[in-house]
Amino acid sequence: MTAAAGNAVHALSTIRHWVFDMDGTLTMAVHDFAAIRHALQIAAEEDILDHIAALPEAAAQAKRAWLLDHERALAEDALPAPGAVKLLRTLAADGCRVGILTRNDHALAKLTLHAIGVGELFDDADIIGRDEAVPKPSPDGLQQHLRRWGIAAAGAVMVGDHAYDLECGRAAGTHTVLVNLPENPWPGRADWHFADCRALLAAWQAA
Ligand SMILES: [Mg+2]
Repeated sequence: MTAAAGNAVHALSTIRHWVFDMDGTLTMAVHDFAAIRHALQIAAEEDILDHIAALPEAAAQAKRAWLLDHERALAEDALPAPGAVKLLRTLAADGCRVGILTRNDHALAKLTLHAIGVGELFDDADIIGRDEAVPKPSPDGLQQHLRRWGIAAAGAVMVGDHAYDLECGRAAGTHTVLVNLPENPWPGRADWHFADCRALLAAWQAA
């Protein structure tokens, strides 16, 4: 945990609504985005989902299908990130609400969550994929979770491993947690930074 976040640990313990990014946050990061961009002929600086969305329908469909096939194989072989399963089980057992906001596909998110052994913790409606919301960094999907749960943004936290997750949380007004990066490349965008979900759980329980 960063020193600056130390003062706010108490606030962490009060959070009962948790929205998680999936890939690279709850799972070991396996997406090779450079290889995906290469295969789909997408420039390095371009957002993959934005690129596909802007194509004529036939071309978009072909690239969407390729991406889905590619991600299905990754989903079937998904491995949990360190501490992720225990964190989710502990939060759920404590009565916290847990949700997913992913730029992955809804059905593949479910497949992935089952593959890492936490599928039963998530109601179908608590999983929001790229077809149910404007993709992160838009706050749209996170705001959908807040509306469905009927809570204010300040009572929720967005947990992720990417700047998009933090920007999404900031835009929606929730707390933000960065995990699974040894250093925080985006200081100022995360309320808390932990090495992994083990450290996040330890801080939540210690506060
Ligand atoms: Mg991620």
